[in-house]
Amino acid sequence: MKEKACRSCHKLSEDVKECPICKSTDLTTFWSGFVLFVNPEKSEIAKKMGIVGSGKYALRLSR
Ligand SMILES: [Zn+2]
Repeated sequence: MKEKACRSCHKLSEDVKECPICKSTDLTTFWSGFVLFVNPEKSEIAKKMGIVGSGKYALRLSR
C-alpha cells in the first residue's frame, strides 16, 4: 500500500487515518518525491519546509 502524505505538514505514513505529527485527517496518496529527515533541526531544507519531526516527507502533493 502506498504511503499517505499529510496535506498540512507533508509527513508520509502508512496505514493511518490521521497524521501522527499534526493530527490532520487531510491525507492524500497523490504525492511525488520524498525526503528523509534524520536530523531535521540541522537541515536547511527541513527549516524551509517547516518540518520539526524526523522521517519521510513528500516533496510535492497534487489533488
Ligand atoms: Zn501532518
